[in-house]
Amino acid sequence: MNEPFDVVIVGSGAGGASVAWRLVQAGRRVLMLEKGGALPRDRSTLDVKQVFKEGRFKNKELWVDGYNKQFIPGEYYNVGGKTKWYGAALLRFSPHEFEADPGHQCLGWPFGYDELSPWYDEAERLLVVNRFANEPELKALLDRITRADPAWRVEPLPLGLKPEILQNEEEAKHFDGYASPSGYKSDAECNLLDPMLGNPCFTLMPDKTVAALAHAPDDPLVITGVHCTDGSLWTAPAVVLAAGAMSSPRILQDHMTATGLDRLLPSAPLVGGNFKMHINSAVLGFSAFKDKDVLRKTAILFNDAFPHSTVQCLGWIDGEILATQLPAAVPKFVTNTFGGRAIGFFVTTEDGSDPQNRIVSGGQGGLPMMNYDLRRLTPADKGTPETDPCLRRPPDP
Ligand SMILES: Cc1cc2nc3c(=O)[nH]c(=O)nc-3n(C[C@H](O)[C@H](O)[C@H](O)COP(=O)(O)OP(=O)(O)OC[C@H]3O[C@@H](n4cnc5c(N)ncnc54)[C@H](O)[C@@H]3O)c2cc1C
Repeated sequence: MNEPFDVVIVGSGAGGASVAWRLVQAGRRVLMLEKGGALPRDRSTLDVKQVFKEGRFKNKELWVDGYNKQFIPGEYYNVGGKTKWYGAALLRFSPHEFEADPGHQCLGWPFGYDELSPWYDEAERLLVVNRFANEPELKALLDRITRADPAWRVEPLPLGLKPEILQNEEEAKHFDGYASPSGYKSDAECNLLDPMLGNPCFTLMPDKTVAALAHAPDDPLVITGVHCTDGSLWTAPAVVLAAGAMSSPRILQDHMTATGLDRLLPSAPLVGGNFKMHINSAVLGFSAFKDKDVLRKTAILFNDAFPHSTVQCLGWIDGEILATQLPAAVPKFVTNTFGGRAIGFFVTTEDGSDPQNRIVSGGQGGLPMMNYDLRRLTPADKGTPETDPCLRRPPDP
């Protein structure tokens, strides 16, 4: 017990920050190592050009897909992880989503809704989950949708947003995909890490990239700490890998390869496997009139015919935002005309699990791989437009 820390946590996103919160409450001495730095709290994280066009805050690391095509994933390496940028929709899984559903290739969870329910309660308190009234134009549209097809059920979308955001139009229009400089949007940094900063049990080290796990000299199964890329070594009796679903498996795989555990452990092939990313499509509708709603993302639609899918409203859209998704040659008056009349929806299908859909470390000097093919997930694939540019399908053999 001579070590200065009881636990080293790798990553300061949703996972790392909530583990740190609970451990520090229990009086454990926590060291959190985060690859990125803190985001600026000026208004640059609300700027469409810097956020979407220039991708100033996005990770720039190259990956390859399962067909060796290079891409840069939508990862964000900063204090608070992706929660700084997320859309603030804080939904609970329904009880049925914890059960196995072989027809949709969904694996069962090791525990059910009832066990998780008190933790949902606590998370919703910490992240100040609110529900907002639908603004007039959205309400009229939703009424028309549900009148036309009563199978669609509208519910208020639980949002990690403070009600005061409605008094700040710029932030109300820019929370979905942006980082809030004033803390109107609940995120891991503002709601979990900042309140712990003065606590002697909590140490946050930004700009520290973990390169490898450290282990006992005679036993690679006993993890004793982590090595960082700057050569530093941090030890503790427990290490929590919370570097995100695209990074944690690679750190584990590298450890297993370096120590030969990949050949010894029957569970080794599972690491990085069953990777899910959900299938998301944005659907845009255009009204004949300018849409004056501001917050917009206040409702979610369910339909029992699609038990693993939802339709959420998207946040504010205007000509500037629309232009980031269109060729630069499209004239500004066109994007402004259509942007002012656009209403967006975000259609999400849970994609099911397949062991071959996996994250693979490229090892030293190699590029990491996301080997993901929707054709391994037939039930989810059926519900996805062939034209979705985010989902690469190989040519038919
Ligand atoms: C644009 C966008 C919108 C989203 N909207 C929603 C939404 O509305 N609702 C919702 O529920 N979810 C949403 N999500 C998903 C949600 O944000 C993520 O599921 C969640 O934040 C993942 O948390 P995490 O802790 O697992 O990973 P991350 O948030 O990625 O955190 C991992 C952290 O580890 C750090 N790290 C990585 N490698 C290392 C290393 N080697 N050493 C040290 N640190 C490392 C990273 O920098 C990062 O800070 C959205 C995501 C995005 C990108």
